[in-house]
Amino acid sequence: MTIAENLKNIQDTINVAAEDAARTSDSVHLVAVSKKQPEERIEEALAAGHRLYGENRVQEAKERWQERRLKYPDLKLHLIGPLQTNKVKDAVALFDVIETIDREKLADALAKEMHKQGRDLPCFIQVNTGAEEQKAGVGPEELEELYNFCYGECGLDVVGLMCIPPADEPPALHFALLKKYAEELGLKELSMGMSTDYEHAVPLGATYVRIGTGVFGARS
Ligand SMILES: *Cc1c(COP(=O)(O)O)cnc(C)c1O
Repeated sequence: MTIAENLKNIQDTINVAAEDAARTSDSVHLVAVSKKQPEERIEEALAAGHRLYGENRVQEAKERWQERRLKYPDLKLHLIGPLQTNKVKDAVALFDVIETIDREKLADALAKEMHKQGRDLPCFIQVNTGAEEQKAGVGPEELEELYNFCYGECGLDVVGLMCIPPADEPPALHFALLKKYAEELGLKELSMGMSTDYEHAVPLGATYVRIGTGVFGARS
């Protein structure tokens, strides 16, 4: 199957899942995760008209997109991987949305850098819904405090929450939890669902699904 066909099939699946859940299909955005994909596949997706991409490393994203995005003024790039404070400057310059705020120090650095660059990027807080030790994301019990810090102290434009469910648990539980947390904070956007589970994320309220292999095939 071509990448154009993959994109169409996934979009169709999203549309059906959205309709089944009495949602409009334009309330769910497909973030094509282009990390570690060869250049020709990126070009194929762009040629198919896709303009929303996710990357998990700042340096890699810079190499892939910095030049290329000049050609595509309507391109949108989401940072979906962990962010070190020494990469904040590059991240703010390159990305349109930061999905992975998980600590105060990072929120503070992002806010200062956005102010400096005159960029007010929408942000998500990443929640470690499974409370996994090695995983990025703020623990659910510290979420409200971090949200208050990001929004209240730093003035960041926090639009929603993001999660990556534990690999060995049914994802639906985590999607439902993330939705509950977002509702409690009055946040509208939910970034949840990947290649293997986005069909379950849409009925539970996903507004962004992040799909890599399903769009592009296996990563190198
Ligand atoms: C790589 C990645 C994805 C995409 O994963 P697939 O299984 O290839 O769809 C989604 N979200 C994050 C945070 C990722 O790092």
